[in-house]
Amino acid sequence: MKISFNKLIINKAAENDPLTSLLRQRLPEAEVEVVSDSAPFLNPQRARSGSLVITHQMGKFIKDFPEAPGTPPCGEKYITTLLNCPFSCSYCYLQSYLDHRQIVVFTNTEKLKRELKTVLSNTPPSRITTGEMGDSLAIDHLTETTANLLPLFKNTETLLEVRTKSTNIEHLLRPPEKCSSRLSAIEGSDRLLVTWTLSPPHAIRKEEHGTATLEDRLVAISKISRSGIKVAIRFDPIIPFYFSRDKYEEIVKRLKKEAKNGIYRFELGILRFPPGLWENIRSKYPGSAIMRGEYHRDFEGKMRLYRPARVGIYRNLHRIISDHFNGVPVALSMEHNSVWEDAGIPLP
Ligand code: SF4
Repeated sequence: MKISFNKLIINKAAENDPLTSLLRQRLPEAEVEVVSDSAPFLNPQRARSGSLVITHQMGKFIKDFPEAPGTPPCGEKYITTLLNCPFSCSYCYLQSYLDHRQIVVFTNTEKLKRELKTVLSNTPPSRITTGEMGDSLAIDHLTETTANLLPLFKNTETLLEVRTKSTNIEHLLRPPEKCSSRLSAIEGSDRLLVTWTLSPPHAIRKEEHGTATLEDRLVAISKISRSGIKVAIRFDPIIPFYFSRDKYEEIVKRLKKEAKNGIYRFELGILRFPPGLWENIRSKYPGSAIMRGEYHRDFEGKMRLYRPARVGIYRNLHRIISDHFNGVPVALSMEHNSVWEDAGIPLP
């Protein structure tokens, strides 16, 4: 199902931006309100489902992921082209990062492009993702962010990584059925990496409200892979309550079948709760299955599963992945070097 909006709240400063015009053109039925200050809409009382705030990014678009002491560098930066997403995962970390659930799109794209050119020529990371502050593809058919940024990655060593739990890919494959050359239609697509987060079907049903089913994500993976675009997989978060070796092995076997051109990399991470998120979820979903297990607060204030249990899950999954995708890099998300070593996963 394509996501749409019935109201656009446009900050006056963003009114004449090309991306604003594109959004108005794509959503001709949406009611439009131009405001001198969009900040009052970014609070939980005013945020309304179906509305989209359009404004300027006042801070930096591109940022580094925070690195905890003792963890290997992730080699990635992130771009904040939007805030929030139309899905509603019970564990969503944005609940503790942002003060509101309002979906916001930043339209001062020229500023973003200037920043991006500087980063790509001065300190190019291996990947830059648009999927840290929201799902990269959920509304990409409206914003065209991926197609707009991708040409800047041409002839660089950096991949643009879009992260998603959706199946909103058709606009990247124009038209998919006629893509006989195994090359995607969007310019610079050899620098594109589409990363899907996957979980067992019952975890998706219970905890990832509004996202695509596992089956539908696998179909989308198959299409993207056949088009020649690189595919990566995040098993992150792995929710301990829903973890079973068999269920994950089933998913990895299906990937082997569907991703005809292989998987570029896997990333594993067990659900952790940054400060504030644990309390937030406990008050919103008392007794939630996602909080079951032996959790402890770490030195950064995050709630994490008991270390031996984490190592056990990583070991199991790494073995399954190596059995089916021998030689494909596997990384852990925000885990100490010693956890990688104990789980038998080579450090990058
Ligand atoms: S898809 Fe990502 S950003 Fe969207 S609700 Fe789920 S965890 Fe949050």
